[in-house]
Amino acid sequence: MASNSRGTRPDGPALGSNRDSTRQHNLSTVLRLVHLHGGISRAQLTRATGLNRSTIAALVTELVALGLAVEKEPEHTQQHGRPSIMLRPGPGALALAVNPDVDAVGVALVSLGGRIVNPVRFHTVRAPSTAEVVNIVSAVYSGMAASLPAEQRVLGVGVAVPGLVDPADGRVIEAPQLDWREQPLAEQLREALGLPVFAANDAVVAARAQAAFGAGRDVEDFVYLFGGASGIGGGLVSGGRLLHGSTGFAGQLGHTLVRTDGAACSCGANGCLEAEVAREQLLDAAGLPADQAEDLEERVLELIDAGGDAAQRLRAVVDHQASLLAVALRTLVHHLNPSLIILGGFLRVLARVNPSALEDAVRVGGARGAREEVRIELAPLGADPVLTGAAELAFEPLLSDPAGFAHA
Ligand SMILES: [Zn+2]
Repeated sequence: MASNSRGTRPDGPALGSNRDSTRQHNLSTVLRLVHLHGGISRAQLTRATGLNRSTIAALVTELVALGLAVEKEPEHTQQHGRPSIMLRPGPGALALAVNPDVDAVGVALVSLGGRIVNPVRFHTVRAPSTAEVVNIVSAVYSGMAASLPAEQRVLGVGVAVPGLVDPADGRVIEAPQLDWREQPLAEQLREALGLPVFAANDAVVAARAQAAFGAGRDVEDFVYLFGGASGIGGGLVSGGRLLHGSTGFAGQLGHTLVRTDGAACSCGANGCLEAEVAREQLLDAAGLPADQAEDLEERVLELIDAGGDAAQRLRAVVDHQASLLAVALRTLVHHLNPSLIILGGFLRVLARVNPSALEDAVRVGGARGAREEVRIELAPLGADPVLTGAAELAFEPLLSDPAGFAHA
């Protein structure tokens, strides 16, 4: 017979730890629902979890005591019956979101529920080195931390990197636009801030934000494609799960082949989507310098509306890019059978100039069921999905084990 090294009855600790792990699991489930819904009633929690009312009441009390949730009257009352009290994300836990870019470092505190509290975009004269990112983040964070009330705590840091990141240790393998290779950014930030640091690719974390709070919410199968200064990236959600692949590098959608005789790509191949569809070409055609890239979408729409030769040349570039993006989307539709494609960054304007072109393109060929169901939506402009997605990385340990927050 196997002896129990702790000298306790075999069923004793097992029962205890089962109870603990059930409670931890239930607390995690409820906090996740509050986090993702922004506001949810006890009755809705009971329905969503299948737990009884007294169990929900106990879990809610615990989350409120931890400062992770607050109970509030709804803003507008229903006509019939008593308005149900809503459980909303509490202010107690914060994540620091960091997004180094070619001309700035974005830093923000994010609270549960994906609410960005005070974003700072620290502009740099050139692409920052990792040491500069660490200095900027340290300075911005110490200012933020000094003005935080005592009941609010920053749990960790989520970094969204425009490049390839090793998911195991947060090491930046390559971020060509920043001229970074093999940089232990997560480790450097951990040392400087004394907080746990998690890092991932910017488009992958933005896909995560879309799944949690954006157009991809409650969508089991979607593709998110984001176009930025450093190329095209994205995320694939299949059966409700973000696909990681065997080593964490799934979703390199910028390297989807769109032209067999196409331009050379940074990856060493030819005719990849991001080699053919680049933000730079659109900026050139719209006569905008790279530091005004935020205005690209509005400028392109204005110029095309104005008409004339310049509009025609710009329109030709947009249509060419849209047709190649359509090739990539068609491939993705046939591989993944998504119900939704979300376009972010400069890819939005390709869809806005001619909304039906991309929709029509994904409906050509292949299985009818796959192509008829898919719709295309646009992600919000700006860095918000990247920052909320980065914060999700740092919130994950809390969401998995909310009780751990009390003794952290
Ligand atoms: Zn490539």
